[in-house]
Amino acid sequence: MFRALVVEKDAEGKTRAGVQELDDSRLPAGGDVTVAVEWSTLNYKDGLCMGSGGGMVRVWPHVPGIDFAGTVEASDDPRYRAGDRVVLTGWRVGESWWGGFAEKARVKADWLVPLPDGLTTRQAMAVGTAGFTAMLSVMALEAHGLVPELGEVLVTGAAGGVGSVAVALLAGRGYQVAAVTGRPETEAYLRGLGASRIVPRADLAETVAKPLESEVWAGCIDNVGGPMLARVLGQMKADCSVASVGLAGGADLPAKVTPFILRGVNLLGINSVMVPYAKRVEAWERIAAELPMGKLEAMVQECGLGDLPELGRAILKGGVQGRVVVDVR
Ligand code: NDP
Repeated sequence: MFRALVVEKDAEGKTRAGVQELDDSRLPAGGDVTVAVEWSTLNYKDGLCMGSGGGMVRVWPHVPGIDFAGTVEASDDPRYRAGDRVVLTGWRVGESWWGGFAEKARVKADWLVPLPDGLTTRQAMAVGTAGFTAMLSVMALEAHGLVPELGEVLVTGAAGGVGSVAVALLAGRGYQVAAVTGRPETEAYLRGLGASRIVPRADLAETVAKPLESEVWAGCIDNVGGPMLARVLGQMKADCSVASVGLAGGADLPAKVTPFILRGVNLLGINSVMVPYAKRVEAWERIAAELPMGKLEAMVQECGLGDLPELGRAILKGGVQGRVVVDVR
């Protein structure tokens, strides 16, 4: 038997999430590795998947949790043995496959990554999908020429999960970081993570008639999308890049192509879900080596499985600061 946060849907289509004891036989068929989950984490998508599913969940009852870290309990795949420490992000786990909000998960070996030495399972989930995505964004920007000498790097939605890890990672690598937030009360927190400038969300919220403004940013990790991303594109330095991660402010992009064709600005898409194995390993090894762990700890709040439904509603309203790690045991 194992405990899991189970989302059920009733005849009227209403969903309800609660902790249940399940038999091992309920684990998904088709997986080849059983993991004793130690830590999971809360992401925006988990907020959706604990409610109506946002179109991602098609089969109920469902166990959400898009990422987890733990120890292999049993494996039918030669790459993993009982006792190996592993981490999983992406692959639609927690959406179309039962996820990490449970003491046990049964998944495909292809989706796992061995946990790098020096990273605990709790630290891995303090990083989680959000921090993994932040690292993919840094890797994409640097692959397109970003170096600290080019100037300030902007992070939007900075006090959120991806934003917080992005600020700490960039500052740790010697970048000057400007953090956009709609929550002025998070200024001390963001400065503690390494931000050297705070940009109020309102400064970038309005659309402007001019598609090109003064060149300010050498790079950007954008978690917001919408009109804010359009403004940022017009403020990028020539030949610099924006990593487009999220849509917390909207999926529309009310922009002109002018920054691309007159300034050579690049818009780089970041997809953390389907990442080839070698790139996942590289990202986790860089996280273990480069993320200041003291700063990571400052972002973290802990919760248990039973706290998740309420926290899920909060993250959908932009009301969660930093990273929430879930002690599933
Ligand atoms: P969080 O909810 O933790 O953070 C989002 C932040 O965006 C908030 O904390 C807030 O920051 C800001 N924000 C919220 N609403 C608005 C708004 N209306 N206008 C402007 N800013 C707003 O989410 P995550 O950090 O986990 O994820 C960020 C985004 O990235 C989400 O859209 C998520 O779906 C996406 N994502 C994409 C991934 C990918 O693979 N591409 C992977 C992971 C996440 P502040 O309070 O500082 O203003």
